[in-house]
Amino acid sequence: MAGFWNSHVHFMERKWADVASIPAPELNRQLRDMLTRYGFTAAFDLSSQWENTRLLRDRIESGEVSGPRVYSTGLGLLPANPGLPPDAILNFMGWVRTPAPEIADAAQATAASRKLLDAGVDGIKLFVSAPSKAALSQGTIEAAVNEAHRLGKPVFVHPNTGADVLMALHAGVDVVAHTTPQSGPWDETLLVAIKEHRVALTPTLWIWKWYASHDRISAQDKIVNTEVGQLRAWVASGGTVLFGTDLGAVDPDPSEEYTLMVQAGMDFRQILASLTTAPAERFGKSKQLGRVAAGLRADLVVLKGDPSNNIRALAEVQYTFRDGKIIYRAGQ
Ligand SMILES: [Zn+2]
Repeated sequence: MAGFWNSHVHFMERKWADVASIPAPELNRQLRDMLTRYGFTAAFDLSSQWENTRLLRDRIESGEVSGPRVYSTGLGLLPANPGLPPDAILNFMGWVRTPAPEIADAAQATAASRKLLDAGVDGIKLFVSAPSKAALSQGTIEAAVNEAHRLGKPVFVHPNTGADVLMALHAGVDVVAHTTPQSGPWDETLLVAIKEHRVALTPTLWIWKWYASHDRISAQDKIVNTEVGQLRAWVASGGTVLFGTDLGAVDPDPSEEYTLMVQAGMDFRQILASLTTAPAERFGKSKQLGRVAAGLRADLVVLKGDPSNNIRALAEVQYTFRDGKIIYRAGQ
C-alpha cells in the first residue's frame, strides 16, 4: 500500500537531543524503531525544538540516514503561565526541557507564529489550555490561524476539554490533535460544529488508555469508552481522521491504536485512509503522496498479512520504501 503517515509525533525525547552528535548507525536504529519498521514514510512532529528537528530532517534528506519525510511545527505555543511539570517529572518521562513560547494575547500569537514560520516550520501548534488552567482566547487562536494560513500552513491544537475543541473549531484550526476523554462525551453543539467546519482529528486513543493504566479498572474503562465514543461521533459527523500516536510518550507500536480505532467503528478502509489519502490531502501533498498511482512518489509499504482480516497486520511490515528505495526490511 501507499506509505503511512503518522500525523502526531514528537522528536522531544532525550534520544533525539543534539542530533548532530548521534552517529549515523544509531540514528538509523532510532528512526527504524520509532517509524520505518511500522511503515511510516511521513511524520508530522507537533512540538519539539525546531533547529534540532530540522537538522534531523537534513540528515535524512541528505541520504546519510534512512527515515521518513519529516514535517514539524517547531515548539508549540502555550498560554501564559502554563504551570508546566517540574524538571524531575520531565526527566522521568524522558523529555528534554525546551521552554515553549508563551502567548498572552492576539498580538503575541501573531508575533510568535511569524517567528516560527520565518524559521521555516511546516505548521503551528497551539496548546488551548494548560495544567495551570490558563487558556488561550478564541481571538488569540484566530491570530495564530491567520498568520499560518497566510502562508498556507496548517494549525494544530492540543485541547483538554470539549469546550477547547469547540473554541478551536470556531477559530478555524485545521487539526485537533487529541480526543478529550477526561471531559466526558462530546455534546450535540460540538457535533454540529464538526459538521460545519472542515476539521481533522488525530484521535490518539492509546495514549489516554496508557495514562489511565494506573487507575482502577472502572476508571480505565470509562476513559476508553469515552474516547472511543468521541471518535465514533466524530466519524459519524463527517469529520476527517488522521492517524496519529503522539509517539515519544508511549510505546511506539501502533497496533493498539489500530485496535481502538476498530472499537470506534472504523473499518479497514477508513483506517487506511487516515494513514494515507487523508493526511496527504490535508497537508497539500495529494499530488505526490498518499496513493499507489503512476506519477506519484514511490513511498510504499509491503505488509506480511492482510489487514482487512486483522487490523493488527497494519503494524506487521515486510518492507518500507521511500522514493522507490528500501528504508526498512524486516529481519535486519
Ligand atoms: Zn503530542
